[in-house]
Amino acid sequence: MGVVRLTGQSGLIARAAGISRSSSGSLLATQSRATRMTAPSVPHTKPFSISTPVSCASHKNTSAASPSSLDINPQPKSQTDIAGADPTDRYAAGLRLNKEWAAQTARDHPSLFPTLASGQTPQILWIGCSDSRCPETTFLGLEPGDVFVHRNIANVLHPGDLSSSAVIEYAVQHLRVNHVVVCGHTACGGVAAALGNKNLGILDPWLFPLRQLRERNLKLLQSMPTSEAASKLAELNVREGLNIVKQKSIVLNAIQERGLQLHGLIYDVGSGVLSELDTEDSEEVIRARLTAFQTE
Ligand SMILES: [Zn+2]
Repeated sequence: MGVVRLTGQSGLIARAAGISRSSSGSLLATQSRATRMTAPSVPHTKPFSISTPVSCASHKNTSAASPSSLDINPQPKSQTDIAGADPTDRYAAGLRLNKEWAAQTARDHPSLFPTLASGQTPQILWIGCSDSRCPETTFLGLEPGDVFVHRNIANVLHPGDLSSSAVIEYAVQHLRVNHVVVCGHTACGGVAAALGNKNLGILDPWLFPLRQLRERNLKLLQSMPTSEAASKLAELNVREGLNIVKQKSIVLNAIQERGLQLHGLIYDVGSGVLSELDTEDSEEVIRARLTAFQTE
């Protein structure tokens, strides 16, 4: 049973800062590529001039406002593309920045997009929260193609959930990822909701597993200040999520047959730093899990 390793190392990791943790290091095997491209850092001071500016009729009255010489879309511009549009509209900004990012990335890494167009070979399955502050590929400093992702509110895993189950099975069995990560985060709205007692409609059944964790750990959580209790429940939720992943036979088989590694992380939205939880199981727990859940 000792060959079954269900945990990573404990301690802080700070991938966004380029700190590596492992010499065997498959999680960071792509770290050398990490600094090559991070979407938010792409300069966007002006459009790239790799094509002649378009001057079709539909743009005549807006040419002065054209956001990019790469824009060859003949359709009328949306309100947000016109000069004077709301400069705080992040959707419009995103469309403009995407063109710049794509052009910059293609110039800096000519093989990236052609490679991605032919398929994907991600090493990591990431299960995280939908929260807008938790964009895993960005804060890992990795690239498109590196991380296969499932995100939902409060990174809750229900054993019978078809969506997450399909993602896990596809990632483990077909993409053959080397790492499965369950990541919670500080200041999680879903966790805060589960620590409160408001009726939240459809969110209530979704957050049910969090309320069960609250029930099982009520004394501990009530002994803590609110923010600390939220962090603790986020951690407990990660551990519970990992347990559910480990209860899947395909995962247990991949651990035994090819050394699939599982990791529990907490992302601090206030600092951008990831902390790795010590999620090592005792041999007794591993033995019981294999006996109960492994199928052929
Ligand atoms: Zn969250």
